[in-house]
Amino acid sequence: MNLQPDIDRAATQLRGKTPQEVLTWALGNYEKISLASSFGAEDVTLIDMIAKIKPDAHVFTLDTGRLNAETYDVIAKVQQKYPQLNLRIMFPQAEAVEPMVSAKGINLFYDSVENRKQCCYIRKVEPLGRATKGLDAWITGLRRDQTANRSTMEAVELDSDRNIAKINPLIDWTNEDVWQYIHQNEVPYNALHDQNFPSIGCAPCTRAVEAGEDLRAGRWWWEMSNQECGLHVSSDGTLVRAKG
Ligand code: SF4
Repeated sequence: MNLQPDIDRAATQLRGKTPQEVLTWALGNYEKISLASSFGAEDVTLIDMIAKIKPDAHVFTLDTGRLNAETYDVIAKVQQKYPQLNLRIMFPQAEAVEPMVSAKGINLFYDSVENRKQCCYIRKVEPLGRATKGLDAWITGLRRDQTANRSTMEAVELDSDRNIAKINPLIDWTNEDVWQYIHQNEVPYNALHDQNFPSIGCAPCTRAVEAGEDLRAGRWWWEMSNQECGLHVSSDGTLVRAKG
């Protein structure tokens, strides 16, 4: 089924609307819809907004097995604060992880781009595929000003890989808007954000950034080319983001 015409119409209607208006429309329009959350600043913002609109909404996250303790702490705080939320925690398949780390070592990702991509595929891309299977739409925390290749994004788009709608309620927001919302609404957030971690992924693949560095410079810093391939748009994620 060609969803593009309906999605284009919705994108036009929702241009300039607030994140809450976009979420209200999306949660009313799609039956099988879930927020993809890595519990970064944008994601906890969306969780708070969603919980105020539909307290039992669906959220999924990918537990790669290599997350920081601070990320588990914020997941636990969110579970306490929003007990009605349907949070699905996706794990990688043990039968894929075990042979990978036995053959290549527990920290294989530092040895080559190929190894890093294999680890990301097994720990993130494959579980993301299971998490989005059967959905009509998924919600992301993408913002237009994060990278140049997001400059033309709309609040509603077609995820052509999955042929489902992708909802980006924060597309018009800045980093400052997100933090103002978090503080005003006392939303639980990952403590690593206070230690110069603007973007938080797996513990061994994320570091703090220096003043003036790109917000995403702390991810896979040991690899020289720093191109995003974006789990959100292809079969990769951002929750869950990868580089090509
Ligand atoms: S970010 Fe690092 S640890 Fe996490 S899945 Fe990718 S390579 Fe593996």
